[in-house]
Amino acid sequence: MDTDLTARLATGLAARQQQHLYRTRRVIDGAQDVELISDGKPQLSFCSNDYLGLANHPALIKAMQAGAERYGVGSGASHLVSGHSHAHHALEEALAEFTQRPRALLFSSGYMANLGVISALTTKHDTIHEDRLNHASLIDAARLSGATMRRYPHNDVDALATRLDKNSNGYPLIITDGVFSMDGDIAPLPQLATLVSKHNSTLMVDDAHGIGVIGKNGRGTVGHHNLSENDVPILVGTLGKAFGTSGAFVAGSEELIETLIQQARTYIYTTALPPAIAHATLTSLKLIEIEAWRREHLQTLIKLFKDGAAQLGFNIMPSNTPIQPLIIGDSDKALRISEALQQLGILISAIRPPTVPDGTARLRITFSANHTEKHIDQLLAALDKVIKHNAR
Ligand SMILES: *Cc1c(COP(=O)(O)O)cnc(C)c1O
Repeated sequence: MDTDLTARLATGLAARQQQHLYRTRRVIDGAQDVELISDGKPQLSFCSNDYLGLANHPALIKAMQAGAERYGVGSGASHLVSGHSHAHHALEEALAEFTQRPRALLFSSGYMANLGVISALTTKHDTIHEDRLNHASLIDAARLSGATMRRYPHNDVDALATRLDKNSNGYPLIITDGVFSMDGDIAPLPQLATLVSKHNSTLMVDDAHGIGVIGKNGRGTVGHHNLSENDVPILVGTLGKAFGTSGAFVAGSEELIETLIQQARTYIYTTALPPAIAHATLTSLKLIEIEAWRREHLQTLIKLFKDGAAQLGFNIMPSNTPIQPLIIGDSDKALRISEALQQLGILISAIRPPTVPDGTARLRITFSANHTEKHIDQLLAALDKVIKHNAR
């Protein structure tokens, strides 16, 4: 055994623990839903991204079973060899129609979609501008691409304009989250689209937290702002959140998708998603489009929570999405509050740096269409008790 390595790792781990940045996992038993078993104890969960409550929906479970009967379990190969099944193909066509774009392409995860798209579309001679609060996968993707990456202040279109004015060589790629994953606010896409069109550049939106959740028929941030493929030529959506399954997709022009099939390494060199997942996702898509009540109910829950939280004097952020972060500040305090909530049967994880900026550790509270108004009352009562108790 390499004792040098072990000793170095132990020192690193101890330092993390000291800074209250050590991460641990909970073991969840039973289905993913608002009421679940975490480390053997029943909890009311406010920390999944299953916004529409589809992950454990009977129709999805049935579709998954039917998919397994028809296609087996594993896809057996990458899409370009023999892993691209009828289920994948049908889902791509349905997603293209849903997003009102000519084509869509499935990836095994959102992380891989972002890595694949950005690496395929840029070289070391290009410049990428990213919102400072973009998801880690977008930051990693830009680094991997070798392009020059610049991060503009959060949602600051004027600051971005100044930067685009200064260096206008090449075709810069502008990338933003649609709904920001840790803050819950919505990107100013119309202003970004206008700016981008003036600068020979391209706008890419990662709508992992918007698709299915906001906009007419669940068309996401782009739908919410009434924008088209012209404004946002590169759209990424994930399937592990509102869709309740797993995987991701990129939607755009024929040429974009064909380029990705030729060049996106995270598309080419990996096994295709299990086809049964794609088959089940077709059912999610139907529910997303038809069952508008899920989005409406979410809005009711969000309003109820925000009104209650304001009355209790909590430091909530200006978000109108199911992501409602409560800023605590210190990592250790955020952890303590999260642990105290768990004692009361409320599961909310403490999000700490480097996932969020230093000094902004928070409880990332998320809602699902499966939550009830009574659940929100329970949440507010528990937060009131625990936060007052941990006031200093
Ligand atoms: C979750 C998330 C991803 C990653 O998607 P996975 O399918 O979980 O890999 C990418 N971008 C954003 C903004 C996300 O929130």
